[in-house]
Amino acid sequence: MADATGFMKINRQAVPYRPALERIHDSKEVLTKPTEEHLRLQGSRCMDCGVPFCQSGTGCPVYNLIPEWNDLVHQGRWHDALDRLHRTNNFPEFTGRVCPAPCEGACVLGITSPPVTIKNIENAIIDRGFENGWVIPRPPPIRTGKTVAIIGSGPAGLAAAQQLNKPGHLVTVYERADRIGGLLMYGIPNMKLDKATVQRRIDTLIAEGVRFVTNADVGRTVDPKQLRREHDAVIFCTGATQPRDLDIPGRQLKGVHFAMEFLTANTKSLLAGESSPISATGKHVIVIGGGDTGTDCIGTSMRHGCKSLVNFELMPRPPDQRAPDNPWPEWPRIFRVDYGHEEVAAKFGKDPRTYAIRTTEFVDDGKGNLAGVKTLNVEWFRKDGRWDMRDVAGSEKTWPAQIVMLSMGFLGPEHYVSDALGIAYDPRSNYKADHGRFATSIPGVFAAGDCRRGQSLVVWAINEGRGAARECDRYLVGATDLP
Ligand SMILES: Cc1cc2nc3c(=O)[nH]c(=O)nc-3n(C[C@H](O)[C@H](O)[C@H](O)COP(=O)(O)OP(=O)(O)OC[C@H]3O[C@@H](n4cnc5c(N)ncnc54)[C@H](O)[C@@H]3O)c2cc1C
Ligand code: SF4
Repeated sequence: MADATGFMKINRQAVPYRPALERIHDSKEVLTKPTEEHLRLQGSRCMDCGVPFCQSGTGCPVYNLIPEWNDLVHQGRWHDALDRLHRTNNFPEFTGRVCPAPCEGACVLGITSPPVTIKNIENAIIDRGFENGWVIPRPPPIRTGKTVAIIGSGPAGLAAAQQLNKPGHLVTVYERADRIGGLLMYGIPNMKLDKATVQRRIDTLIAEGVRFVTNADVGRTVDPKQLRREHDAVIFCTGATQPRDLDIPGRQLKGVHFAMEFLTANTKSLLAGESSPISATGKHVIVIGGGDTGTDCIGTSMRHGCKSLVNFELMPRPPDQRAPDNPWPEWPRIFRVDYGHEEVAAKFGKDPRTYAIRTTEFVDDGKGNLAGVKTLNVEWFRKDGRWDMRDVAGSEKTWPAQIVMLSMGFLGPEHYVSDALGIAYDPRSNYKADHGRFATSIPGVFAAGDCRRGQSLVVWAINEGRGAARECDRYLVGATDLP
């Protein structure tokens, strides 16, 4: 154990973000670099409890060996901590930065006190690993002669590629975008995950022997049937890329965008050193919908220098503390202030979120441009044991807006590539494949990540990519040593 009474002596102290009013002027990562002493003390708060829920399925989806590396960090044994971390997680530098940390929601210390800063410690271990040159490419000693095509280069595709490369299969990742990384590259913005950090890992995979083909849109510019014929197995990691739309009057107006249009254009421009063709500069911005995507639209708009920012949420405001039907070790469904909310409050004096509100119309300026948004407040009530909502009479309001981002979630994968192979779907239109087996209805074709489970998290994509690689390896050679 790190320190038997560490949790009684040391208070939780998360690694702080840079000051809000400073960081909105650039797109560098918001997280600051902690000192070694800070991390050692925070690691000492881990109780190494008998049943570490943090590393169970309720907590960390990749079953990170959390109490072990907390102890190793406390002892200053960083290299050993890195070895433990890489046993379960291919890309801790991604989860350490962007994971919502369900592990911390399940931390036993969290029953009575603030939980251990697990995510910060994970991030520090991998950053130190890269800084000290401990993360080196490890190409396989032999090649098996088997080839695998992976469609999609998000965290699921990258994890599957790295795992399958280890026993010596030749893996080629086909990506329709011009850069590798999926939502790690075009989606999650720089201030949460710097693109040099993504590229650094991709370069390691290339040095290990994984091949990448960009601008390869399977189903359009690349024939999926030919891909299947030319490879011993195929893994679909195409993500949940269909955004939920808002079909109300004025949807066609100039200025109404899907969140991903805005975020992708922004990152592409940043990487090219240009200004974004979809700009929030000097505009009244409304972000419809919350979650990580909504927050990232808020943070990006703040960096563009928007005039005002409002965020609409259809649901009511979550409670400040866990509700009775949301006990430990479940993920706490509570009110949180993310980086974007904090920035709006610092600049405009108020949290941007308005809850229990429904958008009814986009208002035209008379020239086909967005001029405003009409809304109604709603109230939520229980009916026959289920939640329902009704409009609040007389609550109509018109908000000024020149740009709106729709961030209301995703409806599963696109089907043009899967239809070409005749893959079956589940009732939610995801590719049908059981978690654990990851096999689709077509022999030798597997599915992992958001295209299989629906819109989710980076850490779940890594879990699924690893699992699909294991099952694919078993399919290819009849047995597997992959975890
Ligand atoms: C804006 C935003 C912010 C987010 N923030 C967070 C966060 O902070 N923390 C977190 O844990 N999760 C976050 N998520 C969710 C997380 O990014 C996803 O759950 C995760 O990336 C899913 O990984 P994936 O590999 O399954 O798919 P993706 O990352 O979506 O990658 C799929 C890839 O497949 C490619 N593709 C699709 N079809 C084809 C085709 N036919 N041919 C070739 N290539 C194809 C796509 O171009 C894409 O690159 C966020 C999501 C969004 C949208
Ligand atoms: S990957 Fe996420 S859940 Fe797992 S230890 Fe890291 S922060 Fe926690």
